[in-house]
Amino acid sequence: MPDSRVTGGLWMSEHPILQVAVVGSGPSGFYAAAALAGSQTPCRIDIFERLPSPYGLIRAGVAPDHQTTKSIQDVFGETARHPAVRFIGNVEIGRDISLADLRGAYDAVVLASGVPEDAPLGIAGADLPGVHGAAAFVGWYNGHPDFSGLAPDLAGRSAVILGNGNVALDVARILSRTEEELAASDIADHAAEALARSGLMHINVMGRRGPGEAKFTNVELQEIGTLQGATALADARQIPEDLPDGLPPRDRRMRAKNLDCFRRFAQSDPGAPGRRIRFGFFARPIAILGTGRVEAVRFARAEQDPLFRSAPDEFDIPADIVIASIGYRARPFSGLPLAEGERALANDDGRIEDGLYVVGWLKRGPSGKIATNRLDGDAIAERIVAECTASGAPGFSALAERLADKGVRASNFDHWLRMDAAEIAAARGPAPRRKFTTIADMLRAGGVA
Ligand SMILES: Cc1cc2nc3c(=O)[nH]c(=O)nc-3n(C[C@H](O)[C@H](O)[C@H](O)COP(=O)(O)OP(=O)(O)OC[C@H]3O[C@@H](n4cnc5c(N)ncnc54)[C@H](O)[C@@H]3O)c2cc1C
Repeated sequence: MPDSRVTGGLWMSEHPILQVAVVGSGPSGFYAAAALAGSQTPCRIDIFERLPSPYGLIRAGVAPDHQTTKSIQDVFGETARHPAVRFIGNVEIGRDISLADLRGAYDAVVLASGVPEDAPLGIAGADLPGVHGAAAFVGWYNGHPDFSGLAPDLAGRSAVILGNGNVALDVARILSRTEEELAASDIADHAAEALARSGLMHINVMGRRGPGEAKFTNVELQEIGTLQGATALADARQIPEDLPDGLPPRDRRMRAKNLDCFRRFAQSDPGAPGRRIRFGFFARPIAILGTGRVEAVRFARAEQDPLFRSAPDEFDIPADIVIASIGYRARPFSGLPLAEGERALANDDGRIEDGLYVVGWLKRGPSGKIATNRLDGDAIAERIVAECTASGAPGFSALAERLADKGVRASNFDHWLRMDAAEIAAARGPAPRRKFTTIADMLRAGGVA
């Protein structure tokens, strides 16, 4: 594979240098690569990514209307340009190269491949058409090639979003934004077009627990109250006067601010024009109802609900589409044992076996912000330089020919820069880019041979 940035100095050093493969180019992979590149130990770090595009959930998870958050990718771009770091795209470890072969070619392997699958809903009717997991739905509006063909039907009036975390808020916000509000985003074309035709007027965000336990961060919750074409609503009777004792002060402050927000939402005019985003609590989904496709979600009311006894124990909310944002789970990886309820790989503070490490969501489970992954990266780099020795391992040179023989068209960071430039050049109006949503289009735009 051509790569103009392979530095002769590093390859031609008299002493072997530590050869490290990082699997996955999301935040955790880049933070680990940056920490290794900045260490005192000479290293060559190859970041393998199954897509031709880097940056993991920054590109495919973080909401398209949150461009400021996505700008962290510029920092990762600097890491990709570091002379000791090489981006190797369009190569999936476990499919194009086995983990065993990768480990044979490198002194250390760091798994940073994230936790990409939706946790199963596990209730009757969960497989009805019209029920989607948030990972798939978010991937669809962000133009992830795996989900470009999802084609969710937005023609109905009512959506139910299950879950009380920030991903649920992202989905509610994207379903509610006006075309004008999305103009400056990098939402995929297919999603922008479908949302512009959307008939959805009632967006119900449902949590199993109360408003004081919701995992929403306050900035994101407040943002829901500022949407141009939607009114946020809550039922004042479900909002407690106070929070339980014993909460850590920071947590308490955040939850108290959330309660203030819900109190404001409870004052909103439910008859205001436009869409309604209604927050409901203490409601456990027990079945998805429908003949041939989803029509409603049945909930059981928790005893903690102040409405318990004064309202039916079970109730249905009409739903033309359901998005389950109830968490993610790890994809089995080359037979390595899972842990944390299938939300991570079993590991001892980032170490799986000699020479095999894990960082990010795959290490800790799917929680934490982008910056949380930095700590993992720093810690694993320290461990690797302390525990691994440069053995003269061949690195990518041992694999390149095998990939070519298999017909795998590996891409590099220059290819990505060409794809990036083409996306930026194709942007319309205030949008920052117009995304490619298939691997074939990406490779073509990047000029990948
Ligand atoms: C919908 C959503 C919105 C979010 N919004 C925010 C936000 O606004 N702000 C914030 O701070 N945090 C946000 N987060 C959290 C943040 O995205 C994560 O903390 C972070 O992306 C986790 O990084 P990671 O590197 O562990 O995994 P990922 O970002 O998932 O990266 C994993 C990478 O590995 C690649 N990969 C997978 N398997 C293989 C393989 N076999 N071979 C090669 N490559 C592979 C994937 O393609 C991907 O590029 C959000 C998360 C989600 C899901």
